[in-house]
Amino acid sequence: MAMKLVLATLNRGKIKELRELLMDLDIEVLSIADASTTKFVVVEDGVTFAENASKKSRAAAELTRLLSLADDSGLEVDALGGAPGVWSARFAGEHATDEENNAALVDALKSKTDLRARYRCALSLFDPATNRESIVEATCEGRITLTPRGVGGFGYDPYFIVDGCERTMAELNADEKNSLSHRAKALAQIQPKIAGIIESARAGSGT
Ligand code: IMP
Repeated sequence: MAMKLVLATLNRGKIKELRELLMDLDIEVLSIADASTTKFVVVEDGVTFAENASKKSRAAAELTRLLSLADDSGLEVDALGGAPGVWSARFAGEHATDEENNAALVDALKSKTDLRARYRCALSLFDPATNRESIVEATCEGRITLTPRGVGGFGYDPYFIVDGCERTMAELNADEKNSLSHRAKALAQIQPKIAGIIESARAGSGT
């Protein structure tokens, strides 16, 4: 039987992408909503993506006792001093929708000329069997367009032009986004750790 890994997020866009990115591993991927009947609430009060990712993976592992993977990610705009950053999901206020956050972004940038930006993703992998945690971080560089394009992805994607391809993230198909995104690059770094844990569990159970 395949080992289980729980994704410590309720964000549907992240769950879809992380599932696709984990497809090649021999592991059963569950969302926290599938793995626990307790509502998953984590106060994301860290000042870095890594701190928040760590809080989420540990909370999910505590609830489920399963190997847990958490993503904390967001958009950093140079002209806004790195905002919205860890506040990306809440840029227009607590419980803001993607549309409200995008409108707040356009409003904040309408008088700016420097539109350089990047997506940043921190992933935390927490193994409750050993209490070991691995944290990795990666970015995807680009710039903001005030005129949205494309229907793919989620969040700020229609407003983020990826360096080197001149299309917005929302104009890329899922495979294209998964070949260059901040999340894909971070996952590539953490994948060997997951593979190692699967291998050890298999050796331990003699299968
Ligand atoms: P978190 O759930 O606190 O990590 O917040 C993540 C937020 O950052 C999302 O709600 C989006 O607004 C934004 N974000 C992170 N990754 C992406 C992405 O790949 N595309 C678009 N927006 C993203």
